[in-house]
Order: sequence, then structure tokens, then C-alpha cells
Amino acid sequence: MIIGGDQTAAASSNWASVINPATGEPFAEVPQADYADVEGAIAAASAAFPAWAKLSPGERADWLYKLADALEAKTDLLVELESRNTGKPLKLSANSDIPFALDNLRYFAGQARSLEGCASAEYVTGYSSVIRREPIGVVAAITPWNYPFMMAIWKLGPALAAGNTAVIKPAPQTPLTTLVLAQTALEIGFPAGVINGVTGGGPKVGEPLITNPNVRMVCFTGSTATGRRVMELAAQKLTRVHLELGGKAPFIVFADADVEAAAHGAVLGAYMNSGQDCTAATRMLVARQRYEEFLDRYVALSKQIRVGDPFSDDTDMGPLVSADHLQRVQGFVQRAKDAGISVALDGGTVDGPGYFFKPTIFAGAAPDSEIMQEEVFGPVPVVTPFDTEAEALAMGNGVKYGLAASVWTKDMATAWRTTAALEFGTVWVNDHLPIASEMPHGGFKQSGFGKDMSKYALEDFTIPKHIMFELEGVAKKEWHQVLFDAQ
Ligand code: NAD
Repeated sequence: MIIGGDQTAAASSNWASVINPATGEPFAEVPQADYADVEGAIAAASAAFPAWAKLSPGERADWLYKLADALEAKTDLLVELESRNTGKPLKLSANSDIPFALDNLRYFAGQARSLEGCASAEYVTGYSSVIRREPIGVVAAITPWNYPFMMAIWKLGPALAAGNTAVIKPAPQTPLTTLVLAQTALEIGFPAGVINGVTGGGPKVGEPLITNPNVRMVCFTGSTATGRRVMELAAQKLTRVHLELGGKAPFIVFADADVEAAAHGAVLGAYMNSGQDCTAATRMLVARQRYEEFLDRYVALSKQIRVGDPFSDDTDMGPLVSADHLQRVQGFVQRAKDAGISVALDGGTVDGPGYFFKPTIFAGAAPDSEIMQEEVFGPVPVVTPFDTEAEALAMGNGVKYGLAASVWTKDMATAWRTTAALEFGTVWVNDHLPIASEMPHGGFKQSGFGKDMSKYALEDFTIPKHIMFELEGVAKKEWHQVLFDAQ
């Protein structure tokens, strides 16, 4: 772990194995922190805060650019570790996760110099007001296992750019690239304590991070259930929370859509990262007159997905992240089958070691069924027909989540009407998944609140402060009469 300026084991000397999900075999060991280590990391971040916050925005930007350059020089290592640890194909780590995360970091380096308060003015006669955006203090970052390096950057980038210091806790399944990140910062001489990385489980490491009074903000990406727990714990000290939670994205194909494009988009949307993506297309709602055509083409394309060794050039989809998660996904599939929902493609598990699960498509599920309502987080989409736009929108919005959605149509008016009506943080028109450093990512409803990426994330990691200057220098002011009017 990285605590202050040191690379360290846990105080307890406990270690846990990190598993390669493609083989089920352990391939690394990481320290298992507990309360004492968490306290140490928060103390280091608190000590580092005043000096880091006082650096000029340009100096902080320089550090973040240097960090991005140093991490880029380790691209091969990061790509290899991310794929071995999560099971995602090398082509995904190499062409998307790692370079995109570095772009995110460089974006935040630039943003550090663009933070603005609003223009100063005399909003009350005789007084001038200005806004400063202040850093919050020590930020605890808690990240999930599906995009470990990218999620670490999404938290640390805006936190550090805005002048905060951080303690990051990666998911216990996938801690390695986050540790490389924190270690690389030390190697290039980053001020000790600005980035601290502690490893271990949610209850033992995450909870003491959230409840420590010196942590001023918790930024969390993970499941909605854990997000609720994070918010409950943070409520005890009214600590700020920034929550990016689960999703159950609708993918709405209108009668005038390009069905070939939609079928390809649904393959990418549903199977990217083995479906372990909070924005994954999970509910394909298709106009009844194009339903059979879409379903046939989608099933045919889905059969072509090659599931296998993440390190092979021939692999499109690797395993799920863990034995527990495989069991969870199998549970959803079995319950949907038991409920009599029609199976359009019965992919299922693969013999041999590793936690592989092939694309599995349900058809015609009712809107209130579990498979239409709950996040599976695996390659298990549902295709369901609709008759009217109103029905499509009601089904689309009819879940507790609100992270991402897409509409497929050639008609501009349909696109404008439906994108406005969908209660989701991102809505794509004629595609599903692309994101950009400059644009916000975050939820409506139980997908959480607060934005990742974009200038909105930077703002979330600051507190606006109003400073008011009295301009006239008189002892007795007109407004004093509301209390005290002595001559
Ligand atoms: P998770 O909620 O199980 O764990 C996320 C993190 O929280 C891990 O680091 C975990 O150790 C920690 N944690 C667990 N219990 C905790 C507790 N009681 N206190 C503090 N920390 C605790 O989620 P996961 O299974 O790692 O990730 C999958 C989930 O993340 C999915 O629901 C997915 O939709 C969501 N996700 C959301 C986004 C987004 O941007 N909205 C992005 C990626 C993943």
C-alpha cells in the first residue's frame, strides 16, 4: 500500500490473494488493511492537504501532467495487469481503458487551471461579493472492480486538480493498477500524502474511511445497495457523498430505425466488458413491427462473440470477474428461466477453469419481471416489444435506476422528444456507450448523484465560498435598524 511517503504492508501483516478470473488461480498478494492503516492514511492525507491546496493551479496541473506521462510510460504493465486482474480482453485494456483514463487525467490537469467562481459584483449596495471555489479537504475514494484504473482516475483526477488530498481504496478483487498508480506518484516525487492507496474489504477499510471525522468527502462508485450504506454512514458526520451507482439502461429501437446499426450497437452495448458495465444496454425495447427482424439479427451477431482467454487476439469477451459474481449472474438467469421467460439465446457457462459466461438473451419479459428490473451486471440482455412511444418511454423509465439510455431513430423530432423524456444522466441517439472526458457521467434516481468527468466533476470536489467586502467604512449602517437604532 502507499501511505504518506512509504510503500508499506498492513500493520496486521495480513495479506490476501488476487485471483486471475480467466484461470481461477491466485497470481498476486496484497496487504489487508484495517483500522490502524486507514487512520495512518487519513493522517498522511490531512498533513499533506494545506501545502497541496496552496499550490497554484498551474503547479497542480504540472504534477498531474507528470503523473499522466509517467503512467503512460508504464502502459504495457498497466494493460497487462488490468487484463490479468479483471479478465477483460487485452484489446479492451490496451485500446480503451488505459489510454482513455490517461486522457481523463490530462483533461483534469487542464481543468485545474480553469476553475471559476462567478463574476464579482455589488449585489447589496455598499458591498462587493466574490466567489472562491475552495477544496474540500481529505477525500476518500472507493472504487469498483469493473474498470479499476479508470475509476481511480475519475476520482483522483478532479479531487487533486481542485486541491484536495485523497485516500483511495480499490475493490478487493482488482487492486493492482490502483497501487501502481499510487506507487508511480511516489516515484516521480509527488508530495507525500497527496495520494494514499489502501487495500482490503468494504467493512474493514471502506467503513472506517467513511466515518473518520477528518474525511470531508466520500466519492464512491459501486452498487446501489453499497451506495445506500455509504450514505447512511456518511450521514453520521454529515460528510459529503458523491455516488455513482448501478444502472439498467434501456435501448429503445423505434420503427424507423436502422435495425442493422441497432443490432450491432446492442452487441457492443450489452457485451462490452462482459456486460459488467454500469451503462450497459440491458433492456432492448423494440417497436413491434421491427421486433422479429431485430431479435433475429441480434441473436445471430451475439452467437459470433468469441469468449475466451483475455490474452488471445481472437477473444472478444473474457470471463466475469469472480466465482461469486458468476454465481450471481447464473442465479438471475435461472430465476428468469424458472419464471417461464423465453430464452432467445442460451449461452451460459463454459466448461473448464475460469468464470466464463456466454451471451444469453431473454425475449419478451414483462416490465415488472426481475430480469427487466434488476442489474445483472453480466452479458444477459432482454429484448421486449412495444406498441407506442408512450409505452416505450414508460418501460424505459420504469426502473429505479437512471444512469444511461439510448434511442434509435432517423426522425429528429422523435429523438428530441424522447431524449428529453428519458430520466437518465446520459442519453445517446443512434449509439450506446461512447463517453468523453469533457462530458459528465452520472445518474438520476437510484443511480446516484454527482458527476464524474467534465467540469461538473471538478465543481463537485470544491465548495463555493462567498466573500463579502464592506465598502463604505461607516460604523452605523442603514440595515442595523432591524435590531439596533441608537444615535
Ligand atoms: P460494490 O458496491 O460491491 O463495491 C464497490 C466498492 O465498495 C468496493 O471497493 C468495495 O470493497 C466497497 N465496499 C463494499 N462494501 C462497503 C461498505 N460497507 N463500506 C464501504 N465500502 C464498501 O460494487 P462492485 O460489485 O465492486 O461494482 C459493481 C457495481 O458498481 C455495479 O452495481 C455497477 O453498476 C456499479 N458501477 C457504477 C458505475 C457508475 O459510474 N455509476 C461505474 C462502475 C460500476
